[in-house]
Amino acid sequence: MATVFVSGTLPGDGVARLGAVHRVVQDEGGIASAAFTACSGEVEAIVALLTDRIDAALLARAPRVRVVANVAVGVDNVDLAACEARNVVVTNTPDVLTEATADLAFGLLLAAARRIAEGDRLVRAGGFTGWTPTFMLGTRVHGATLGIVGLGRIGRAVATRARGFGMHVLHTESTRVHQPGSINPGPSTQVGLDAMLEVADFVSIHCPLTDETRHLFDGARLGRMKVGSVLVNTARGAIVDEGALAHALEHGPLAAAGLDVFEEEPRIHPALLARPNVVLAPHIGSADRPTREAMASKAIDNVIAVLAGGPALTPVVRRDTGG
Ligand code: NAP
Repeated sequence: MATVFVSGTLPGDGVARLGAVHRVVQDEGGIASAAFTACSGEVEAIVALLTDRIDAALLARAPRVRVVANVAVGVDNVDLAACEARNVVVTNTPDVLTEATADLAFGLLLAAARRIAEGDRLVRAGGFTGWTPTFMLGTRVHGATLGIVGLGRIGRAVATRARGFGMHVLHTESTRVHQPGSINPGPSTQVGLDAMLEVADFVSIHCPLTDETRHLFDGARLGRMKVGSVLVNTARGAIVDEGALAHALEHGPLAAAGLDVFEEEPRIHPALLARPNVVLAPHIGSADRPTREAMASKAIDNVIAVLAGGPALTPVVRRDTGG
């Protein structure tokens, strides 16, 4: 029986299943908690949230850790090189959250284009005084061009939704577009990012946060976007320079934006909070109940498999078996 630290409360029966075979220490405070400090010398597995920073210093405090199971598909909170150096397996939760996140991305796209959240605020403030032909005109979705940055699992799922709305889809380069078994995004044209920004009415970001994609959307790139276009980000906040985005929303070229993720969560850049033309969601991309239960279950199954001496189910970093 190994000691497993579980960060936070997870939905579903995964933690109970884990508790039947291992000693579970669980704390809302995550790896910053006193509970983690108290068991760090014995802990062999960590079920981590994206709010936990797993790095060399943390692994040095917990030298017996064999597996870090992140309850997320993105692993930008984990120093993968540090884990590899200590032969720590890292796992994530791909696939089970694809459709939920694509739903939220498309919801933000519609809400930003058609000013739904802004309209809700206006109605509640007593500002709806009757229908007029020029009131709250937004951006047309049907027939518009959508550019997808990162045509992976979620990007492809957004593309299928866009087809239902009669949109023309462009995507940036992906090595996995033609992989057997991948979701067919339907007719989609590959273009370079800057060429995409010139013509896309909507741009939706679905690439991981890496050194390469940090501030991929900086002031210069945002300035190249089509006049009146809409940016949607459900990937990771730091892919977009928030200060530059607020500027592009105030002075152009952007008409609106829909964001589920932020550079320094839960802090939101004050200039964004001040903009009426940005829809702000509190990082709820995967937050439907079955999806969150499936994510928790997948993380727990990874821990159980690795602690039993088997391979991880969804590894990002594998154990070096010397073979
Ligand atoms: P995925 O299947 O790995 O897709 C990522 C795609 O991004 C791949 O097609 C990849 O290209 C592409 N890519 C990598 N680097 C790029 C770059 N520099 N420029 C353009 N494209 C690049 O991952 P996924 O499951 O779709 O998830 C995508 C991201 O969504 C995650 O990393 C996570 O951060 C975020 N996410 C957020 C939420 C939320 O709650 N808001 C929920 C789930 C996921 P290749 O095919 O060539 O590798």
